[in-house]
Amino acid sequence: MYFDTIDSTNAYLKKYWKKLPSETIVWASKQTGGYGRMKRKWISQRGGLWFSVLFKPKNRPMNPWHYVRLYTMSIKYVLSKYRLETVIKWPNDLLVNNKKICGILGEGIYTGNIVSAIIVGIGLNVNNIIPDDLKNIATSYVEEKNKELNLKKLLKQINSTAYYKYYLKYFKKDKISIFTKLWIKNLNIRHGDFIKVISQSIEKRGKIVSIHGDYLEIDFDGKIEKIYAGEVSVRKERI
Ligand code: ADP
Repeated sequence: MYFDTIDSTNAYLKKYWKKLPSETIVWASKQTGGYGRMKRKWISQRGGLWFSVLFKPKNRPMNPWHYVRLYTMSIKYVLSKYRLETVIKWPNDLLVNNKKICGILGEGIYTGNIVSAIIVGIGLNVNNIIPDDLKNIATSYVEEKNKELNLKKLLKQINSTAYYKYYLKYFKKDKISIFTKLWIKNLNIRHGDFIKVISQSIEKRGKIVSIHGDYLEIDFDGKIEKIYAGEVSVRKERI
């Protein structure tokens, strides 16, 4: 489904998920109310690729984080075909030279404890110029490569990569852990790295003990804690 302007592609699917089929894609040229984690504002001007995908599969793993990783891996793959190498920032962003080029937000629709639907929202900076106040933390394809990409073609390539390269192959009970391991291999953090964990206004420095799909085990001065994705921001320490 295509819209010239929408408030948010994720919000649209959250409203109409019941009557829309699984794998519906909502694409908009411009979002007026795009949002990231913890409802932080996501700037979505014309020229970027803003879309969301609805998943209501039968007999597939239903953790929203699997679907976030599905798109992180697919977009990384497609951008590398356009000669732009990106780094996956745990848990949900793609970076170029430490600047965010893509943010991916997964949202679950719950019926009690059961996930009935998953919505993945993708914000990829492509032909859009980054506003001055975000220049230090964000970049776009055109700013990196001085070249524009066809958004419709890119949208198709990302979704067919997601579907044929990863979804059909790995989104099965006995295969999903292989996919999570593949994603961990592609992350910008490793066991033993020091990171800064930021939650609300509290900052803590710690060492990574182990990396899992949905959480990190961190050693904070001898005390081991689990840090779940979604609760915190993690910054890699430069030493
Ligand atoms: P994080 O995962 O870094 O905590 P979020 O996923 O919550 O961030 O995304 C929201 C944040 O991303 C905003 O607070 C802003 O700093 C940044 N941001 C907003 N729009 C864009 C954009 N188009 N490209 C890159 N970064 C953006």
